[in-house]
Amino acid sequence: MTEAALEKENKQIARQYKELLRISYRSLSNEDKKQIRKAFDISVEAHKDQRRKSGEAYIFHPIAVAKIVASEIGLDATSIVAALLHDVVEDTKYTLEEIQEMFGETVAKIVDGLTKISSLKKDKDVSQQAENFRKMLLTLNDDVRVIIIKIADRLHNMQTMDAMRPDKQEKIASETLYIYAPLAHRIGLYNIKTELEDLGLKYTEPEVYNDIHTKIKESKEEQDAYIKEFSRVIEDSLNQEDLEYEIKGRPKSIYSINLKMKAQNVSFDEVYDKFAIRIIYDSDPANEKFLAWKIYSIVTDHFRPNPTRLRDWISSPKSTGYEALHITVMGPKGRWVEVQIRSRRMNEIAEKGYAAHYKYKQGDVQDDHGIEEWLNKLQEALENPDANAVDFVEQFKLNLYSKEIFVFTPQGDLKSLPKGSTPLDFAFSIHTEIGLKTRGARVNNKLVPLSHELKSGDQVEIITSENAKPNINWLDYATTARARAKIKSSLKEEKKEIAEEGKAILARKLKAQKIPFNEKSVNELVVFFNLKTSLDLFYRVGIGKIDNQKLKEFANSRSNALVSYIKRKIKKPVIAEDLNKDEITTKYDQLVFGREEDETLEYKLANCCNPIPGDNVFGFVTVNDGIKVHKKDCPNALQLQSNYAYRIIPAKWIDSSQQDFKAVIKLTGLDNLGLVSEITQEISSNLNVNMKKINFESLDGVFNGRITLVVKNNSILNKIIDRLKKINGIDKVSRE
Ligand code: MN
Repeated sequence: MTEAALEKENKQIARQYKELLRISYRSLSNEDKKQIRKAFDISVEAHKDQRRKSGEAYIFHPIAVAKIVASEIGLDATSIVAALLHDVVEDTKYTLEEIQEMFGETVAKIVDGLTKISSLKKDKDVSQQAENFRKMLLTLNDDVRVIIIKIADRLHNMQTMDAMRPDKQEKIASETLYIYAPLAHRIGLYNIKTELEDLGLKYTEPEVYNDIHTKIKESKEEQDAYIKEFSRVIEDSLNQEDLEYEIKGRPKSIYSINLKMKAQNVSFDEVYDKFAIRIIYDSDPANEKFLAWKIYSIVTDHFRPNPTRLRDWISSPKSTGYEALHITVMGPKGRWVEVQIRSRRMNEIAEKGYAAHYKYKQGDVQDDHGIEEWLNKLQEALENPDANAVDFVEQFKLNLYSKEIFVFTPQGDLKSLPKGSTPLDFAFSIHTEIGLKTRGARVNNKLVPLSHELKSGDQVEIITSENAKPNINWLDYATTARARAKIKSSLKEEKKEIAEEGKAILARKLKAQKIPFNEKSVNELVVFFNLKTSLDLFYRVGIGKIDNQKLKEFANSRSNALVSYIKRKIKKPVIAEDLNKDEITTKYDQLVFGREEDETLEYKLANCCNPIPGDNVFGFVTVNDGIKVHKKDCPNALQLQSNYAYRIIPAKWIDSSQQDFKAVIKLTGLDNLGLVSEITQEISSNLNVNMKKINFESLDGVFNGRITLVVKNNSILNKIIDRLKKINGIDKVSRE
C-alpha cells in the first residue's frame, strides 16, 4: 500500500471509531469512553498486520461489530469493549491474562467465551454442528452478552462475505440459518434475525433471493401509494384525538416471502401480506394500553377487522418481551392488511429487545426479561447426559418457533408455554419438585386429566401429594423438553431403587430353592424370562412380576434341558449387566396377539427365521402345531400372508412389566361420615394404582362399594385389600 492509501485508511478508521461513540444507544460516561478508547487502541495495535479477505484492514471488523453492539443492539460499554477485543486473544499475541489485567474480569470472561466459541471445530456434518452449538451454549459463562456479541460478529461476517469462496459462503450461511437466526429471535433481536435470514438465503439460494429482491424493489412504489391511501383514511380521526404518531409500511422479509411462496405454492404476486402497516404512537407509560385500543378502534371504524386475527401482545407479552397490538383489516382495494399498533417504547423493545428493556425497566434486566430463566433451562437441558445433540437442537428450535400459549397461576401470574402443553408441563415449568409431586390438576376450577391440553387464558392449579411420583404414562402427557427430561430421570431412579430391592429379594428366594445367587444363575434367569439385562430381572422381581411360582418353574427347568433349548432359540449372547450401567434398554419379554394386543396365547417360534424378542413378528395358525411366530421379513412371510391371510394373527412383543391389569374389588361396611374419603385416600396414597370407576351405595346405614382399579400386579392388589380391611367400619373386602 502506498503512503497516501495508508493515510487514507487511518483516517477512515478514526472516522469509524468516532461514529461508534456517537451512535451508542446508551449514554456513555467519561469512564466508559476511556475504556472504549483503550480497547480501540489495543485492538488497532493487535490487528495491525492483519487484513481481511476483502483486503481492508482487519480492525474494521471489530469496530463494525462494536457498532452493531452499541447501536443496533444497544448494549453497555462493557459489551462495546468486549466487542472491540473479541478477536484479539484468538488471532494475536495478546493473552487472556493480559486482557484481564487491562480491562478487568468481566471483559476477560466475555472475551474468553467468544474465543472458545470460535475455536470450536467447524464441520459440515449436522450432528457435529449441533454438538458445537451445544458446546457453544455451555461456554456461556452465565453471561448472555457472550452470545449477543457472537450474534453481532456473525451478522457482520454475513454482511461482508462477498470476497469468500462460494462453498465457504454456503457453509457459513446455512449455519447462520440453523443456529444464529433462531437464537437472535429468541433473544428478541427481531431486526437482526430478519437480516441474518435474508443474508442466509442470499448465499444458500442466490437466484431465489435475487428474484424476490428485484420484485420487491419493483413493487415499492405501489406499496408506498397503498400505505398513503390507508393513512389518508384514518389521519383525520387520529389527529382529532391529538395523537402523536407515525404510520409506516413494514415490508415482509425476503426470507419469509420465500417461505410463504414455498409453503403455499404461490407466486410472488400471490403473496398478499408482503407488508404490514405499523402505527407508532407517543405515550406516557400510564396511557400506553389505553391509547393502543383507542387507535385500534379508530382503525376498525374505517376498515373492517378480521376478528380471528386480533393479537393482543400488550396484555400478554410474548416470552421474548414483545408487545404490540396486531389486527388484520380489510384495507383499501379490498385487500387484507395487517396493522401493528405499538407505542414508541414497544417499538424499541421490538427492535432492540434486550437492551430496550434495560432502558425502560431500569432494574436488573436479567430478572425481568426472562433471559436468565431461559438460559437456566437451556443449561439444565444441556447437562442432561441422555440428550443427543441433534435432538436437543431440534427440540430447542421447536420450542423457539412453536406458537406460545399463556396461562395463569392461581395467584394470577402469567406463564408462557409452548402450544400443546399440558398441566404436567405447567407443573414442571413452575418447579421440578412440583412437577414430580403432581397428583392432578384443576383448570379454571375444574379437575382435568393430566393429558388435558391447555389453552391461552386458562388458570391452572396443580394438586400435589407427597406420595405422587412420575409413572411411564406421564411421558405421553408431557410435551416440553424440560418436563420430559425430568420425568425420564425420575423413572430411571425409581426403577434402579426397585431393582436394588428386587436383587435382595431374588437372592433370598434363590437360596430357598437351593440355587446359588451368582452371575451364572442370574444369566440363566435372564434367558429364561426372555429379558435383556439383569437390571430388568431384578426390577421384575422387585415389582412382583416374577414371583415364587415363576421362580419354581425356573428351578424345575434347570433340571431339564429347557434352558439350553431356549438359549439355542435366542441365539444371542446375554451378558449380565451391572446395575451401575445407567442405560436401561427397552425390553420385550412377552408376546401378545390380536388387534388389541391383549391376548397371551401359547406359541412356538418358527425355525425358518428364529425371531427374537423385539423383532417385528406375526403369528401363523398351523394345522397341527398351534401358533408359529415368524418375523415379518421372514423369507416365508410373503407366501404365508398371500395364501393364508385368514390364518395370520397380529402379534407384538411387549414389556410385561409395563402392563397394567384391571381388578374389581367389592366392599361392604357400616356407613359413616368420611368413610368414602378414607377409602379413596387409602387407595390413592398407594403408588402405581389408579381408580377407574367407583360406585358407592348406602342403604339404611349399610354401605356397599365397588371399585375398579388398575394395578401392576397381584401383590399390590393384595396389599390394598389388606389395608382397606383395617379401615374402621369396613366389614368385608374381596375381589370380584
Ligand atoms: Mn469476529
